[in-house]
Amino acid sequence: MDEPAEVDAETLERRRGRERKGRPVGRYLMVVHAGQTATQIAVLEGRALIEHYVSRQVDDATQIDGNIYLGRVQNVLPGMEAAFVDIGTPKNAVLYRGDVRYDRDDLDASADGNGGAKPTRGRLPGAARDARIEQLLKPRQTILCQVTKNPIGAKGARLAQEVSLPGRFVVLIPNSDTYGISKRLPDEERKRLRRILDEVRPAGHGLIVRTAAEGATADELQRDVARLLSQWRRIEERAATAKAPALLYREPSMAVRVIREEFNKDYRGVIIDDRELYEEVRDYVASISPELADRVEYAGDSDDPLSVFERHHIHEQIHKALDRKVWLPSGGSIIIERTEALTVIDVNTGRNVGTSNLEETVFRNNLEAAEEVARQLRLRDIGGIIVIDFIDMEIVSNRAQVVKTFRDALARDKTRTQVFEISDLGLVEMTRKRVSEGLVESMSETCPSCAGRGFLIDDTLL
Ligand SMILES: [Zn+2]
Repeated sequence: MDEPAEVDAETLERRRGRERKGRPVGRYLMVVHAGQTATQIAVLEGRALIEHYVSRQVDDATQIDGNIYLGRVQNVLPGMEAAFVDIGTPKNAVLYRGDVRYDRDDLDASADGNGGAKPTRGRLPGAARDARIEQLLKPRQTILCQVTKNPIGAKGARLAQEVSLPGRFVVLIPNSDTYGISKRLPDEERKRLRRILDEVRPAGHGLIVRTAAEGATADELQRDVARLLSQWRRIEERAATAKAPALLYREPSMAVRVIREEFNKDYRGVIIDDRELYEEVRDYVASISPELADRVEYAGDSDDPLSVFERHHIHEQIHKALDRKVWLPSGGSIIIERTEALTVIDVNTGRNVGTSNLEETVFRNNLEAAEEVARQLRLRDIGGIIVIDFIDMEIVSNRAQVVKTFRDALARDKTRTQVFEISDLGLVEMTRKRVSEGLVESMSETCPSCAGRGFLIDDTLL
């Protein structure tokens, strides 16, 4: 490596972002509160709460995305092109045909000339693509596998045999020839990164370079790769001696995970009220982006008696995000109703709508609603089909403007959304991919008296 080990002053300054009076300037602030039963993470943009995550200790059995196991194949279901795998969780995990890793030597000879099998999705070449799952996996076989989707309700976790270990700048894919650089990076930067990585890339393993690698030095990339490689070696060592089913690697706590994915110079800080977690996060950031380590702050150092969530007005914003009704600045409101199949959002004007210029009032109200709906969808992490009933507008350009405002507001959401044109009945239909179980779900349980219907039937009349 011919790059200097130290980051030069100019790079350091750029990486650090802007500072004012020695304090970092950034749009975002992360506040982490470790409670008795759960850790909560709040992301603020300015003073507005935009994202909120809850991680419970009891979720250990269900929050397992990214964990690596030595699993034991329980049964193979040719009809479903899937296998059930015991990974030591209450429900068996499922491994679909397309996520099975293929090794030519492992394949039954009968796989060739197996013309009847229909081709399945997957990255397997030639004969392997036509191999049936029962030729690739046998009951009682032990396999190394990684959870790619948490178990939800009655559905077990989803597995992949290809393992990936995410770092700050790169993702390591052990025993693979995958090699890719994020297409979102400019051409010149991709060339520079490729030059560095051609030297840093460990033999026999694949690498994917993340967008976060933009501007990273050779030294930083090497440190990231080295960390992941030693992590992979520990997993292999454990796998060699473990008896299936066994957990080989657990993803770090949610705070560290969120910081790994999100924390950069756009954050003016991370405030954590738990000493142990603070040290874990600070050490992680110091090992990856040392210039940002002093932005990780322990809240216990403050003599403010208020909790971190109160100090940053997060409590009151969470309360509002749990309510059906959200007030708009000019007196209107939105009502958010969730059903099994979709979420319906009703937009209302304030009580005192003047009759002088109804269209203009409605238009302003709808614009406010468009911004607020986008914010609430992200904060509440509502997914699936969403239907928004804006108030009817006569003027076509006003309708278009409301949809445009809504789309622009949604663009700040990292999660993929798709918005369709206003329907004949004045409804806006959209879809959103959900990240977690949702804010309300993570902080509540279904009412046991009415099972969530919201009313009790008078039995004396029946
Ligand atoms: Zn009830």
